[in-house]
Amino acid sequence: MLRAIFGGTFDPIHQGHLTAAADLIKELGDVTVHLMPNAVPPHRPQPQANGQHRLAMIACAIEQYPQMRAESFELNQQGPSYTAKTLLAMRELYPDDTLAFVMGMDSLLSFDQWFEWQSILATAHLIVLPRPGYSLAEANSTINQLLQQRRVTHTTELNRYAHGRIYIANTTLTDVSSTAVRDALASGSDTEISAAVMAYIKRHQLYSSPL
Ligand code: ATP
Repeated sequence: MLRAIFGGTFDPIHQGHLTAAADLIKELGDVTVHLMPNAVPPHRPQPQANGQHRLAMIACAIEQYPQMRAESFELNQQGPSYTAKTLLAMRELYPDDTLAFVMGMDSLLSFDQWFEWQSILATAHLIVLPRPGYSLAEANSTINQLLQQRRVTHTTELNRYAHGRIYIANTTLTDVSSTAVRDALASGSDTEISAAVMAYIKRHQLYSSPL
């Protein structure tokens, strides 16, 4: 079976994450998608909501999706959440399954800056979600070369190889970011999150305006 590890900050999970994960399940079939919030993201400002809240919001959002899981692995580790290290540990946990790491197109464009990115490809496939505003046309020479060597265009090839292939998914384009969601919540506007996540945010008074 394929295990798709969808890592991110999820501060909070929004419809871009959720729609993409649901579409991915339709596209891949026999897959479990682990939505995994990081504890200490190495390359960006620290999250506004704590890890337990971010995990709980994922759990609220995915209630109706039996092939999705809220993954607590990185929240239970010490120090920065390096994907390369996480995937090596997942390999031990799931020795019989094929692993894929899921990322948006914006993340692929900077993938060659990630800590030990070669190790990521030696452990897992990459599945890339199209995202409005980001295109392969912007890829640098390292990413282009990686794609030339490793890109596959059929999902069946993810099961034929153990790791190291890159698949660009056909998931719906959804123009939303957690930053836009946090800004909207702080100003009291409607935003693209599920009703269950909105209820959680209200109950715990997250992301409210400091004013
Ligand atoms: P922020 O605005 O706080 O930077 P974000 O919306 O990019 O957050 P993250 O939790 O940081 O969300 O993203 C986790 C992963 O999901 C990343 O690989 C990111 O590229 C991808 N992703 C986020 N939003 C979308 C979207 N709308 N479409 C496709 N991929 C997305």
